[in-house]
Amino acid sequence: MPFASGFLSRSVRAVTASAARPEADVPAPAAAPAGRRAEEARRALLDKIAEFVIRHDLAVTAPNLATICGALSGSHPELARALVQREVAGDPIDQRWLDTLARLDPDGNSRIAELETLTDKLEYAMMRFAQTARAAQTETSDHRGAIGVQIEALAGPEELAEVLDLSRAMLARIEQVEAAMARSEAETERLRESLAKARIEADVDHLTRLPNRRAFERRLVSAALEARCKGEPLALAFCDVDHFKAVNDRHGHDAGDRVLCALAGTFTEMAGDACFVARHGGEEFVLMFYGIGKEAAQGRLDAIRRAQAARQLMNRETGQPFGRITFSAGVAEVTEDADTRSALARADAALYRAKQEGRNRVMLG
Ligand code: GH3
Ligand code: MG
Ligand code: MG
Repeated sequence: MPFASGFLSRSVRAVTASAARPEADVPAPAAAPAGRRAEEARRALLDKIAEFVIRHDLAVTAPNLATICGALSGSHPELARALVQREVAGDPIDQRWLDTLARLDPDGNSRIAELETLTDKLEYAMMRFAQTARAAQTETSDHRGAIGVQIEALAGPEELAEVLDLSRAMLARIEQVEAAMARSEAETERLRESLAKARIEADVDHLTRLPNRRAFERRLVSAALEARCKGEPLALAFCDVDHFKAVNDRHGHDAGDRVLCALAGTFTEMAGDACFVARHGGEEFVLMFYGIGKEAAQGRLDAIRRAQAARQLMNRETGQPFGRITFSAGVAEVTEDADTRSALARADAALYRAKQEGRNRVMLG
């Protein structure tokens, strides 16, 4: 965790307050009691979230904040219950457990989207704060210099002693403010860096470290546009692990997780540079092949499928073999029609047929 205790909550409080009132010199209208209560509740929740993140030494990432917020706000009772049980059992609350918890939360993605909007606002507010702090620092330095010169000029006459004391006190105060501003600027910079990291993390699947569905969907839009402009083909494939539930049932969820990581590695290594591999969710992966049509993509994916089906994976915790871990896939060409969604639907339908026809195969959509 990159922050000292208290800093995060202070910063979040300061920044949300400034985000809500961008014009600091315009007096805010008196808050209605109900509005004030809601504001206090929101701040109390932010404090609780910040304290939780710091106490358990967790990373400040959008998915983490979404899950913790769901649990601590009570908006997601299942998360809240799981958290209480964990605390009562005295088991560690760490990143690994939090990732497991996130799976209980089907609405996590929409909250992450909300957090990202908030992140944008925070970043803008912090940028303005940093600019203001720098400008104020320059101004106070100028004042300090001017006052210093005048104090020297005034030194001597006794009747001015009181004024001098007052001026010296002012000077000391200005110096303190200057130092505090320099510290705030450094803290703001650190928070900004952390938010930039959080934004990158929001595109990464925590288990496999592959790009996640969000990242894939964004990449698909830009890749489709580029392919159409260049007049090149673009193909995509949905891959779904066969009978994966049975792997979990026989070997446990953690072993299932390791199998998913191994598959992620196989896809990445074998698909090559001109392919974007992402985890679409659960035991589903999606691959986007640049510059080739669906038949060529089917051939490439089929080579991966054969290699994977020939592999013998072993559960390293128990020494038991996992047996053959195969996947089925559906391939479609994105550039076949104007709407990328129809390519997704065609690939999905082809995957469904691959399952129907016996699994461990790649079908064209
Ligand atoms: P099919 O061949 O028809 O695809 O069968 P299947 O068992 O793979 O499909 P099903 O949709 O019934 O089950 C998918 C399973 O994947 C159920 C779910 O618990 C498991 N799963 C989803 N995400 C994860 C994960 O992150 N880790 C682990 N270990 N299991 C996961
Ligand atoms: Mg599935
Ligand atoms: Mg499956």
